[in-house]
Amino acid sequence: MNDDEDLEHIRNIGIMAHIDAGKTTTTERILFYAGKIHQMGEVDEGSTTMDWMEQERERGITITAAATTIFWKNHQINIIDTPGHVDFTAEVERSLRVLDGSIAIFCAVAGVQSQSETVWRQADKYRVPRIAFVNKMDRIGANFQRVVEMMKKKFAVKIVPVQLPVGAEEHFKGSIDLIKQKVIFNNLMNEGVTLLEEAIPIPLQDEVRQLRQEMLEAAAEYDDSLMENYLEGKEIKEEMIHRALRKGTLSGHLIPVLLGSSLKNKGTQLLMDAVVNYLPSPLDKKEIVGFDVNEPSKLIKRRVHPQEKLTALVFKITTDIYIGKLIYVRVYAGTIKSGMMIYNSNTEKKERVGRILRMHANQREDISELKAGQIGVLVGLKFARTGDSLCQEHDKILMESITFPEPVVSIAIEPKTRADLDKLTESLRKLSEEDPTFFTRINEETGQMVISGMGELHLEIILDRLKREFNLNVNVGRPQVAYKETIQKTIQYFMKYEKQIAGKGQFAQLHLEFAPAERGRGFVFLDKTRGGVLPREYIRAVEDGLRESLGSGVVLGFPVKDLQVTLIDGTFHEEDSSELSFKIAASLALREGLLKGDPILLEPVMKVAVETPEEFTGEVMSGLNLKRSRIDDIQSKDQLRIIQANVPLREMFGYATELRSMTQGRAYFTMEFKSYDIVPQNIFEELKIRIRGF
Ligand code: GDP
Repeated sequence: MNDDEDLEHIRNIGIMAHIDAGKTTTTERILFYAGKIHQMGEVDEGSTTMDWMEQERERGITITAAATTIFWKNHQINIIDTPGHVDFTAEVERSLRVLDGSIAIFCAVAGVQSQSETVWRQADKYRVPRIAFVNKMDRIGANFQRVVEMMKKKFAVKIVPVQLPVGAEEHFKGSIDLIKQKVIFNNLMNEGVTLLEEAIPIPLQDEVRQLRQEMLEAAAEYDDSLMENYLEGKEIKEEMIHRALRKGTLSGHLIPVLLGSSLKNKGTQLLMDAVVNYLPSPLDKKEIVGFDVNEPSKLIKRRVHPQEKLTALVFKITTDIYIGKLIYVRVYAGTIKSGMMIYNSNTEKKERVGRILRMHANQREDISELKAGQIGVLVGLKFARTGDSLCQEHDKILMESITFPEPVVSIAIEPKTRADLDKLTESLRKLSEEDPTFFTRINEETGQMVISGMGELHLEIILDRLKREFNLNVNVGRPQVAYKETIQKTIQYFMKYEKQIAGKGQFAQLHLEFAPAERGRGFVFLDKTRGGVLPREYIRAVEDGLRESLGSGVVLGFPVKDLQVTLIDGTFHEEDSSELSFKIAASLALREGLLKGDPILLEPVMKVAVETPEEFTGEVMSGLNLKRSRIDDIQSKDQLRIIQANVPLREMFGYATELRSMTQGRAYFTMEFKSYDIVPQNIFEELKIRIRGF
């Protein structure tokens, strides 16, 4: 095979779903059937050991790997783990960046749930082509058509069923393939490994004809010859339909819908066929775009090809007790070979790649190289962090860095015994290296060590890992909101720093502008000095000095964000200036700039969706009204009401318990970060007294 053919046979996919829709079960089945077929070469109908699946599980199908490789019908499918809980939206977004296509799983009873909508919107943002799988067709209340209707209502794309169920609930048998025009079902005598075919039962033929027509009309929009054949009533080959549906799926405007019951071993293989048939290969994006390291406004394009200049992105880091740090990368262009020196554009460090691994369901395989389009694990890199770009030193490139939402919840933490302090610091460092949405800092006002993350659950998991993996016992405070500080006014500030330290002069003079930046921008540094006024390293020292001081603002010592600082001018002294003097000057100037810029305190506001049985709507609404909330929308879905509101995070602590007792445990809520808004005066006063004591 040549390189392009190789690439055409790769699928990098994710699986997204609402909790409980069956992501784990479906992934397990995919690994099982792929392993089985691959292992056996071809399907052996005769040997039926009913407990294959159990044995396989005991041997440890690991679906916890950040990326697992399987082979299916001459294709390599890399399944990238996308976490389900909304606390981890950052992780979801990160995995969406490195995958090319996705399976969206829905429950045949519950349909489109609020969380699946959230993930759906994220996938829209990254333009990830999708196929849908309506799972749990065996459950009481399963209704394929209803879920399809819900999808049509909620998602602004063409929803196209390519299958129709035969039976439902306990009588669910399999599906009618609208393309092949056959009933296809799994042979349960051998755990569904083989597929059987039957003719379409007469009572279903009319419905099948109707749905097939709808499917063909939708597909015809993407293929002229299909359109022609359809209009002229000529034969339409399966291949032609697949090709058109694939084109539609890749455009992002069409979603093929399949169905099954993963638990009952029904429908998985056809889903895998659809992955191969409809989801993109890395080659479907012809080129990728990055930025020039020295001139970030300049774009660099690279062709998706193994012979191109190396361009790769680190999307996950985990620690393996035997091997050490596992660096999960996606190679977009070029080839990484083991033993090769690579350059990290973010840390500006060069390192040698040790082993390269491919993770399978129950083993890892050493491979010698990782080509464009592939996903794998590098071992031996010390400095790489999640989100870093890897390339070669003579051909630097910066992939658009993955942006992460701000952490919104903090907990103060200390070791139970002082002797553990170093170990705790080190363990927290490791954890934040793996997880870019987890931070550790020292609060300068209180001297406490504070960890922060995306939600209460996120931090609970971190604390649990400290105990189990690092054997550390810690005392923790109550979860607190991660407040931020910013300024409201644009001001200019001149700073002259002149000092004698240890007999040596220190000199730096700066003219800076401090301005509020757009919410969510974080920190922006602009250099507008005329060329040559200051040496490059001093400009960098100014930026470093500012960045290092952003951790603690002037209002109540919370981190500063959404601030734009422009270096307008500066003066240095041949003998007395140094990087250190510019760094100190910048950090002193920052304090002044913040004080003069009308500083304020910001709090995270969450987008909350509560799904409640109708009869509790009143209680839920009045509960939310006590929380400084703004109700955005109320929708009905059968006997349920879905209330969308914006609520400050501070008011949401303990809401899970509150909601449970208010609704006899029958309501459910999801929450994601929306924005940082100004803290009202009365709350500010309360906080000030708590933190400052006056
Ligand atoms: P996840 O949270 O999306 O990973 O969902 P799981 O795969 O863990 O499944 C959640 C629950 O639904 C488990 O109890 C599964 O056994 C069950 N489940 C998964 N798939 C099916 C299915 O096709 N039919 C039925 N009846 N139950 C299923």
